[in-house]
Amino acid sequence: MSQAADLEEATAAGASYDGLRLTSVTKSFGAFTAVDDLDLDVPRGSFFALLGPSGCGKTTTLRMVAGLETPTSGSITLAGNDITYAKPYKRPVNTVFQSYALFPHLDIHENVAFGLKRRKVKDIDTQVRDMLDLVELTTQARKKPTQLSGGQQQRVALARALINKPEVLLLDEPLGALDLKLRRSMQIELKRIQTEVGLTFIHVTHDQEEAMTMADTVAVMNAGVIEQMGAPAELYENPRTTFVANFLGQSNLIGGTIKARAADVVTVDMHGVDVSIPTSRSHAEGDEGWIGIRPEKVLIGEPGEVLDAPGNSIPGGVVSDVSFVGVSTQYLVRMPWGQELQVFQQNTGHRRLFRTGEPVELSWRPEYAFLLDHAQDASAGAQLGDD
Ligand code: ATP
Repeated sequence: MSQAADLEEATAAGASYDGLRLTSVTKSFGAFTAVDDLDLDVPRGSFFALLGPSGCGKTTTLRMVAGLETPTSGSITLAGNDITYAKPYKRPVNTVFQSYALFPHLDIHENVAFGLKRRKVKDIDTQVRDMLDLVELTTQARKKPTQLSGGQQQRVALARALINKPEVLLLDEPLGALDLKLRRSMQIELKRIQTEVGLTFIHVTHDQEEAMTMADTVAVMNAGVIEQMGAPAELYENPRTTFVANFLGQSNLIGGTIKARAADVVTVDMHGVDVSIPTSRSHAEGDEGWIGIRPEKVLIGEPGEVLDAPGNSIPGGVVSDVSFVGVSTQYLVRMPWGQELQVFQQNTGHRRLFRTGEPVELSWRPEYAFLLDHAQDASAGAQLGDD
């Protein structure tokens, strides 16, 4: 099929969709493919996060939606209209960047009013006041940007974009320049504002906690493709790839041989111990797999101790490291096959602490485990999530 015919078909597919739709979007820079055949639906009114490590293609995707980059192939539709080649200023899309890009010589009120003035809109002052009210900066209206804190400047940038009532607001690492504490409070603030205005927000970040805190839907991107997309809890609890399992939080991934596949459960031989995994959480093809279990789902007990986790019980561990981190104690436990597993135990006061060198037995409820394809790299995304 020709590229034109491809595009026609893709546009027809987008015509009935009222959100933002990317169909087979590819962006190459010379021989390098930054975004690879990407399909993406962002529902209207959702808070959508594009999450991935540096260089995975998030910003390029955002720039194509904004019109600052043209796709090499594929199409982008917004509320049924093809905007693939539309000029940036012709799109109902605004962007908030990490660098706030405020006009230093204008005060806050004038900064927010700027877009409306240019379009000779009526009733500008009322709209600006409403917007400053929304971002809680009413008392700062006559100050210059340099007289405000980073968080306040970011809220001015947000107000300036929102006052244009875009259909889609793009946020490119908007909180990256803020310190941790301010970032956390701005996350809550951004979520509140999004709920209040009901616009579609697309937020690009490499910070998994930020994406999970704010977004209804998170798309995890890696090397130009989307690995998995869904609600934050769904991605965390049931990752489909080793990259998602490691990039979003931490996971123990243990090699095993699949012994039997029944309708609702898969039985895997894990170094001589049979463990079971619900079929709905099994994403492995072939005879081998990575058994995945989150550190906080693993229970640690004395050898033979019956814990609240009938099902998958693995004897023969020895504590190799103990870190007390206040809310929890984080253990490393060396298993008989030589691998160290991570175990996080909440410090409820109900359980005693174990010491380095103590023999222990680990267990977990089968419904918390997941099974991933053995062809995938067990360490994919592991260090990237920490930056
Ligand atoms: P970061 O979080 O670091 O901004 P990102 O996921 O947003 O990363 P992109 O900025 O989309 O990544 O870049 C994806 C890849 O495309 C990178 O390897 C980058 O070097 C490359 N790239 C981006 N823009 C260009 C360009 N104009 N010319 C050549 N290569 C580019």
